Amino acid sequence: MDWRQGRQQDIARGAIVLAVAVAVALLIVGARLGSQRFTSPPPPSTPVPTATPVSTPTATPEPATPTPRPQPPTPTPAPIAVTGVDDLYAQDGRAIVCIDPGHGGEDLGNVLVEDGRIVLQEKDFVLEHSLALAARLRERDFEVVLTRDSDTEVNPSNEDVNGDGEVAPEGGPARTEQLDDLQARVNICNLASADLLVSVHYNGAENEFLQGYEVWFNGDRPFSGRSETFATLMHEALEDAYAGAGYDANDRGIGLEDHVVTGPERPGELIPSEMPGAVIEGLFLSNADDAAFIQSDQAEDSLVGAYEEAIMTYFDVYPG
Ligand SMILES: [Zn+2]
Repeated sequence: MDWRQGRQQDIARGAIVLAVAVAVALLIVGARLGSQRFTSPPPPSTPVPTATPVSTPTATPEPATPTPRPQPPTPTPAPIAVTGVDDLYAQDGRAIVCIDPGHGGEDLGNVLVEDGRIVLQEKDFVLEHSLALAARLRERDFEVVLTRDSDTEVNPSNEDVNGDGEVAPEGGPARTEQLDDLQARVNICNLASADLLVSVHYNGAENEFLQGYEVWFNGDRPFSGRSETFATLMHEALEDAYAGAGYDANDRGIGLEDHVVTGPERPGELIPSEMPGAVIEGLFLSNADDAAFIQSDQAEDSLVGAYEEAIMTYFDVYPG
């Protein structure tokens, strides 16, 4: 072979070696990214709660890479009245908080039963605390929208809000087991162009020994970092509030969960919320110690103060 041929072979060999090296490097980087994406542990200070919140509908999320197929028509949600906001909220530069008191109306949420009788209902406490929180935030010049401000379902006329062709049977709490009620809540927050979604709940379980507080956010949204920030602030604020009130509440940590109001799109079933947010389960109504605290004189001030503190700090970090 002459020098030119040898050089060409060298160049070809070099190119092959380089291509293989690049491919290997890409594979290694890809594997690392993949392992980071799927195996990174939660932050050390945030143990993952062990219980599944009872209020979470269990529709299966879409896979990350769906195979190509005909797209269902985009559902057209029925219009939902926005309560508690004026027409200027989106333009006046103030941060907008969408407070979502869970349940309502025929949907009692979690309950405490004594002697076969319901003595506490989640829907009452979350509304009471949400209204108090809204008042405090408005005093601090936040714009506030509530998904409900009275004891009612958010979709009381049982509309097919999410456009999936299904509504709940009349005359029972199953109405809120459909996605329509939850879609209505999401729509209110979206219509208000809210900067933060705060879904207020109390927990409950058949196991009366389960107790404590937990905060949930979705890790698969474009703004999940902000949601995690808020969830972390909320978790800390609750911890401080219970300690300050002298209640030794059980810390169930921060969890990742596909709650409907904070979760991603479900094609044909759900148009998602467009802002960071978290679902907060304050304590267990079904646990005697937690329930006693919830009914105590300082409970509302402690709980509402914790929400207020976390929201204010969040907007210090991310001004609206
Ligand atoms: Zn709830």
